[in-house]
Formats: sequence, C-alpha cells, structure tokens
Amino acid sequence: MGRMARLYNGIHYLFIHLKPNLLILMDSDVIVIGAGPAGSTAAKFLAEKGLDVLILEKDKLPRDKACGGGVVRHIHRFDYMSDFINDNHLGECKAHKSYDRTLKYCVEYHTDDVMFYNVRRRDFDHQLVQFALESGARLEQGADNMVLDVKLEMDGVKVHTREGDLHAKVVIGAGGAMDPVARYIRRSGGKPDDMSDMSISPVFEYPVEQSYVEETYPDYMSYFHHGFDDSVYAWVFPKREMLNIGVWPKPGIRVNPKEKLQTYVDHLYSVDLMPEEYTVDKYLGAPLPSAGPVDVTYDHRMIIVGDAARLVSPLTGEGIYYAMESGRMAALSIEEALAKGSPNASALAPYQEMWESTFGADLRAMKSYARDVANHGTMLIKMASDDKQLKGLFANLFMGTVGAAGMRSKVMMRLAIDVPMDILKTINPLSHRKPGERSPHTDRFEEPPIDGPEDEEPEEDLPDDGIRPPEGPDSGPVAET
Ligand SMILES: Cc1cc2nc3c(=O)[nH]c(=O)nc-3n(C[C@H](O)[C@H](O)[C@H](O)COP(=O)(O)OP(=O)(O)OC[C@H]3O[C@@H](n4cnc5c(N)ncnc54)[C@H](O)[C@@H]3O)c2cc1C
Repeated sequence: MGRMARLYNGIHYLFIHLKPNLLILMDSDVIVIGAGPAGSTAAKFLAEKGLDVLILEKDKLPRDKACGGGVVRHIHRFDYMSDFINDNHLGECKAHKSYDRTLKYCVEYHTDDVMFYNVRRRDFDHQLVQFALESGARLEQGADNMVLDVKLEMDGVKVHTREGDLHAKVVIGAGGAMDPVARYIRRSGGKPDDMSDMSISPVFEYPVEQSYVEETYPDYMSYFHHGFDDSVYAWVFPKREMLNIGVWPKPGIRVNPKEKLQTYVDHLYSVDLMPEEYTVDKYLGAPLPSAGPVDVTYDHRMIIVGDAARLVSPLTGEGIYYAMESGRMAALSIEEALAKGSPNASALAPYQEMWESTFGADLRAMKSYARDVANHGTMLIKMASDDKQLKGLFANLFMGTVGAAGMRSKVMMRLAIDVPMDILKTINPLSHRKPGERSPHTDRFEEPPIDGPEDEEPEEDLPDDGIRPPEGPDSGPVAET
C-alpha cells in the first residue's frame, strides 16, 4: 500500500470512528441511491439482515412519479405489500382492449383474474419506503442528497452528493433512468452515455366521477393504442376517480408531449372515452427505457437495479415489478458477498445470474414482440381479434405476464397457420443469448458463462377458459372480426 493510500485510510478511519455524528463523514455498509420501488425494496431486505443501510433520495417524500400506476398481480410475491394493495388499490383491471395504428382492429380480453392493480405512485412508493425504514434503513432526502457521482476506492465506494462525500462498502444504483452508478458502470466498460434507448413519456391524471368509470370502463378496462398517430404507444388506465392517460413515443421518434397528449385526448373524446372536451395543460414526464436490460449490471462494490439497469418491458413499459424483484435479488447477493468478505465483481456476479435466469429472457422476448408489433401491428392485432388462443396470448403479453419467453413458440406456431412465410421470417426470433454463449459481462470479469433459459423454461399454460367473448357496450372504435 502506498504512502498516500495509508494516509487516506488513517484519516478515513479517524473520521468514521471518532466523529460518527457528522453526516458528511458517516459510513454505511450499503448506500442505496434512490427511494423508488427498486431502492426501497433493496434497502428493506438488507436492513432486515442487520446491515447498516442508508437511502439517499434527491426528492422530498412522498413524491410524485410520472407513471401509469398499473401494478401486475405478481406484486403479491412481496407478501408484505398484499394488505396495502388490497386496501389501497384504485381499481382492479380485469378487461383490456389493444388497438392497432389504424384504429380498426382490436384485441379485447376479459378475465376473472386481476390483470393489474391501479395504484397512485405517490402512495405506493411511500409505503415501500416506510417498510424499508421500519426494517432499520436510514433515509436522507431532499436536493442536498442528490448523488452526483460515485468512485471506487480501495476499501469501499465514495458517494459524492451535493452536500459532500459519503463512504460505503457497497453502493446500489436505484436512481432510475439517469442513475449515477449505471453511468459509472457504463463508462468503466468503455460505453458512451447513449440515451437513445429512452424517450420521455408524458402522462396526466384527469379527475372523473366514479360512476363514469364504472359505466364507461367496466371492470376497469384498460386501453392500449399501439402506433397511435404513427408515433406513440398510448394508453388509458381508468382508476377509481380518475383517468390516467399517457403516451410513449416510439424509439427514435421525437414528439411534442403536450401536443401528442392533446391529439390522443381528442381521439378519446371522439370515441366516448372522455366525458368532455379537454385542453391538456399540466402533465408529468419521465424517461422510459425501451431497449431491454443493459448487459452489465454490477461491478466491484456496485450493483444497479430497476430502471437504472433498464429492467423494463420494451412492449408495455411495465417496470415496477421488475424494479422490486431486482432490488430483492441485489440485497441477497450483497448480503452474501459481504458475509464472504470482499464484495468485488465476482462476488456480486450472482445478482446478474439471478435476474437473467428469472426474467431476463422475458424482457428480451418483450423486445422482440415490441418489434413485431411496431412492424406488423395491424396484421397481428387483426389476427388476434379473430383467434381465441392468440388473443389470450397477446393479452397476457400486454399485461406484462412473466413467462413471455416461453410463450414465444406458441405465438409463432399460431401465426404459422395463417401468416405468409416471407412475413413470418421477419417476425424476430428471441434475441436473448443461447445456452453457453458468452455475454459481455462475463467476458469482462471472466466469470463462467450464463446458460440462457430458453430451452429449460416451461411454457406458460394459458387457461382457455380465461377468455370470454367481448361483452358490454363498446364505446371505442368498432372491432372488426
Ligand atoms: C410515463 C410512465 C408510465 C409508466 N407506467 C408504468 C406502469 O403502469 N406500470 C409499471 O409497472 N411501470 C410503469 N412505468 C415504469 C416504472 O415507473 C419504472 O419502471 C419504475 O418506477 C422503476 O423503479 P425504480 O425504483 O428503478 O426507479 P424510479 O421509480 O424512477 O425511482 C428512482 C428514485 O431515485 C431518485 N433519484 C434519481 N436520481 C437520483 C440521484 N442522483 N440521487 C438521489 N436520488 C436520485 C428519484 O428521485 C426517484 O425517487 C412507467 C414509466 C413511465 C415514465
């Protein structure tokens, strides 16, 4: 160890052990950047194991977040959230319509199961933070706690905030799309700060009477309009006393958010899905990743989770569940790595193996489906509107069902019946890695290759009886059969 390093270590030790009350010098086992679903979940599981966890959040909580607020039913896998969801959801979505870009064709789907719960992110995220705090995590919130960058040091990570520097043995990047740890990992892997996989997605909530929702959107029927106005994926999620309306620009397409929302709202009014004409003035926007997971989600003493790792469905933009699941997996890996001694990259590699084998193939499959819908949306939606089984398959995909990769062969077989071979060939096979194929992250840290789950994954059996023929008044465009 060099003289400077010894000097630094000595000073660091003195500050940490003799002046523990100074925030700027306080140490932690783990610093979590961001109190969204990913960060709060990771913090809860780590704190439960007795680790000293500090969450740094740049906003004052509770905070709003631009979002559709649709939480898939897998949320019950986090059993501690079940009571909150059951008591506080703003409607259980049990019906769905997906339109193609021409607005002529539609897949309509009804089920007795909950497709997703409608929530308000402000409340949902705040509850997750409360669980983390109850488990013993600490929270510093507000603009001074914004993390500007991170730096690997000999015995830990330096976290540089607006207020000063903090040190931790491990840092979790849970800061969403613009996360500083993700930036560090990208740069140390020689990748540029390319944000072209993201577009800003604007959303607003329009207050309505509950009776209007019950009448116009029975079973909290959600609407997706794929390729609306040839530029965005647009949605309406009806909630108890509001309509959540948003648009998601296709990758590479720039739109004026307010104008595009207005065009969509005008369309909704024209098909009786809005109670009155409305001029969009206020809306919230946030970056929404569309390219699927990044290749490398860990480094020495660092892990990225949720949107920071782009763990978002490229087909629907669904990311809350993946954020929480990755937070839980990160906590598990970090706890094990710290117990073994040094949380270097090899020790943290199991994190990536865990999410890859659990839902990595699904997210990559979603990317293929998103491409299919972008290229052949009208044909696919028209076919699905006529074909009971295909309809069920697509509806499950749009609802973010885990198991998307396993459904791929079923979808392809179904399409093979009617789709001409030249078009079928352009419908992409799964783009995830094959078993034994090396991935960039394994190359980088010389870990054993990860087996792609494509061959082992059981195919999802979709209940045929979950699909009923369309019923009730159809106030949208007429579905052609
Ligand atoms: C318009 C829109 C609609 C969506 N609709 C849905 C939906 O209906 N269902 C669904 O499942 N998903 C949806 N998503 C995706 C979902 O919102 C994200 O996948 C999810 O929020 C990811 O959680 P996270 O914890 O990774 O990040 P976030 O929720 O973004 O949380 C990150 C937190 O980190 C904080 N932070 C950021 N940078 C720093 C920093 N430098 N220092 C300190 N703190 C920082 C932020 O303030 C924030 O609180 C939608 C996204 C958008 C944009």
